[in-house]
Amino acid sequence: MGLLEGKVALVTGGGSGIGRVTCQILAREGASVAVADWNEESAQETASLLEGEGLPALAIHADVSDEDAVQAMVRRTIERFGALHCASNNAALGAGFHATHALDRDRWDRCLAVTLTGVWLCCKYEIPAMLEAGGGSLVNISSVSGIKGQVTQAAYAASKGGVIALTKTLAAEYAQQGIRANSVAPGGIETPGMATYLDANPGIREKTASVHAMRRFGRPEEIADAVAYLCSDRSSFVTGQVLGVEGGIQVNAHDL
Ligand code: NAP
Repeated sequence: MGLLEGKVALVTGGGSGIGRVTCQILAREGASVAVADWNEESAQETASLLEGEGLPALAIHADVSDEDAVQAMVRRTIERFGALHCASNNAALGAGFHATHALDRDRWDRCLAVTLTGVWLCCKYEIPAMLEAGGGSLVNISSVSGIKGQVTQAAYAASKGGVIALTKTLAAEYAQQGIRANSVAPGGIETPGMATYLDANPGIREKTASVHAMRRFGRPEEIADAVAYLCSDRSSFVTGQVLGVEGGIQVNAHDL
């Protein structure tokens, strides 16, 4: 029996990278999965991959920074699968790479709107659904950048730090109503999003790998497994935590 048998899960940014693999792993663990993405085609592709394995899936076209779309996303999940028990709020948008004084206001606003406000909006509408279901698990994807900061990524790092603080707040607020809230903080993970960054910055691949004590990038599966654990009852006494899945970035010695 899978870890998530009988559960309904919602994954935002489910059309690519970590989100897509999370959908696959949650579904293989027994969950019915709503795959949300602002890229309709990629959400549908992920849902088709799941259905190809005989696993229940629903593709939803939703921009997490659009409150009406988020509300409809949760409503459609419940209409199709009858409840909501777990959510991985994973969609995010960077603001490019700029010294903070050179970052323009539009990029800052757009990054925060998706990466921080989007997570809050998702939680705002997921929580009532989870209360209705008698409890649930929120897994908000942050980043090591939100713990350590990140040179030239002020908006992204600030958003991810905000996701961590939001998640801890939710953990305290809803613990007695059966909702757990945790965050997963990935290190560098091989995804299409990461590939765009590496392609635009020749020579950065080796440097990025070397900041991890393990001297490698992570795989999306390594994040998805952590999400599955936090969604499941195996983590029933875990809430308000930031689980770093980051190959030892935070313990890496600097002078190797
Ligand atoms: P990815 O490959 O770029 O996938 C993200 C998905 O989210 C894409 O399908 C993207 O669509 C979609 N998306 C973006 N904005 C959206 C919005 N407003 N509403 C709905 N969907 C939206 O990213 P990833 O590398 O898998 O990252 C997933 C999560 O892990 C993010 O929260 C990211 O910050 C975090 N993370 C990743 C790494 C890493 O090394 N990869 C490290 C630390 C944290 P489009 O592609 O069409 O824009």
